Amino acid sequence: MERCALVWFRNDLRVHDHKPLLRAFQSGRPVIGIYVFDPHDYRDLSYGFKKTDRHRAQFIRESIQDLRDNLSSLNVPLLIRHGSTPAELSKIAGEMKVDAVYMHEEFGSEEQAVEKRVREQLGDVPFYIDHGHNLYPPEDLPFAMEDVPDTFSQFRKRIEKRRLSAPAALSPPPALDGASVPPALEEGPVPSLKELGLEELDLPPRYPGGSTHARERLIEYIFTKDRLKVYKETRNGMLHEDDSSKFSPYLANGCLSPRIVYEQIKKYEETYEKNKSTYMLYFELLWRDYFHLVHRRFGDQIFYSTGISGTPIPWHENEKHLQAWMNGETGYPLVDAGMRELKQTGFLSNRARQNVASFFTKNLGLDWRIGAAWFESQLVDYDVSSNYGNWLYIAGVGNDAVPFRAFNVEKQSQDYDPDGEYLRYWLPELRDLPAPWIHRPRDMGMIEQEQYGVVIGEDYPLPIVDLYESMQARKKEFADAGRTS
Ligand SMILES: Cc1cc2nc3c(=O)[nH]c(=O)nc-3n(C[C@H](O)[C@H](O)[C@H](O)COP(=O)(O)OP(=O)(O)OC[C@H]3O[C@@H](n4cnc5c(N)ncnc54)[C@H](O)[C@@H]3O)c2cc1C
Repeated sequence: MERCALVWFRNDLRVHDHKPLLRAFQSGRPVIGIYVFDPHDYRDLSYGFKKTDRHRAQFIRESIQDLRDNLSSLNVPLLIRHGSTPAELSKIAGEMKVDAVYMHEEFGSEEQAVEKRVREQLGDVPFYIDHGHNLYPPEDLPFAMEDVPDTFSQFRKRIEKRRLSAPAALSPPPALDGASVPPALEEGPVPSLKELGLEELDLPPRYPGGSTHARERLIEYIFTKDRLKVYKETRNGMLHEDDSSKFSPYLANGCLSPRIVYEQIKKYEETYEKNKSTYMLYFELLWRDYFHLVHRRFGDQIFYSTGISGTPIPWHENEKHLQAWMNGETGYPLVDAGMRELKQTGFLSNRARQNVASFFTKNLGLDWRIGAAWFESQLVDYDVSSNYGNWLYIAGVGNDAVPFRAFNVEKQSQDYDPDGEYLRYWLPELRDLPAPWIHRPRDMGMIEQEQYGVVIGEDYPLPIVDLYESMQARKKEFADAGRTS
């Protein structure tokens, strides 16, 4: 059998803008793809939940099926395995006489540790690694990784001052003259949720996985529905599908390359109009790049309880509070609506994420890493750098200058959901409450509780902490730890 080129897919589940795939084609060898569902990624965490739960797993399953279909139209088989990654890759490498491995760089320490073990197993097989997750590849940036700017705004200014342009997205390669898989070697099925140790979904997934859906959503959001035009005004909405792009599940799993998004923004600007909204979507892609760079610069420090600021905040442990937060039973409607949405769908708007994370750290004072791990378990758009980076920032142990930033979740609810539409959607027990009661059900007297048929403490929880007092207590802890305002 002829030696072959192996493309190892991880968080890059697409065939467009995929340099490793192109390079494998250019090698002139038959090309084979591989994806491994590693039980380690689906294990039980000591916190009492899964590292990857069913919503995210389902999104990945669908993305892998779609990747297989897309590769098959290029005559590239995708081998799917369920087992330990180094062992599975080593088996394939032996059976397929792998000549070289082509892949995108993953810079998280867990991902790198797996890669290291795979390399050890494969001996002297060469690895060809490209950057493919960002708008701007690190080698194009006007600073070294150890000099990544301290704040997002410094970073953005440096990019804009240089008028740096993102490299053009690469087209998929033309179909190969069929790479054959030996009959003895099965391509392998996508494991079911049950085989991954997870429960079935109660409802169809909110976002279908895969690159094909990603491209449909891209065109639908920007052109068909013409939503990019008003993105700046709508992006803080929490309820409606088109309030924001919903590109994140696709970007996070690499079903969509950020450069393709950037190209479509440019196309819209050239064809229709350039406005504050078109700039704002680009600006958000820059945030994504920035969190990846912060991760590169600080490495595993982004997972420390003291974060990258090194502040020793005395984070608390409280299982009752943790459960109330995860299950949306804190007695604060905005937090509860958000947490129930997350658990039921695997997605949450940015505005709601900021609020539930702020409540977790600045009211409950719980260890931010547990909150981040819960997001990691649930979110269909989980991205290690964006998730831990945003949590660090909200927890107040990131590298920004503000010493104590906290959201007042009741005020936020009134500001961003004045009529209570979002709250009513996710909290059916409060459905009959008008504004302003829906924002502060705890303030209802007996008369209102009877009038609207909601008994606080029975039908809906009493607040688990006092909003003001808990925040003052945290503020003092931050000041004692050296973060003063
Ligand atoms: C505590 C917390 C945890 C988060 N965890 C993740 C995560 O694991 N994965 C993730 O992709 N985003 C994360 N975010 C960022 C943000 O909430 C989501 O990217 C956004 O809600 C996705 O919805 P959208 O695609 O409609 O966003 P849009 O508003 O349409 O933005 C377009 C794209 O820009 C990027 N983006 C926007 N805001 C941010 C941001 N603050 N940080 C990084 N990228 C951003 C995303 O790729 C997004 O798809 C987190 C935010 C918070 C506050």
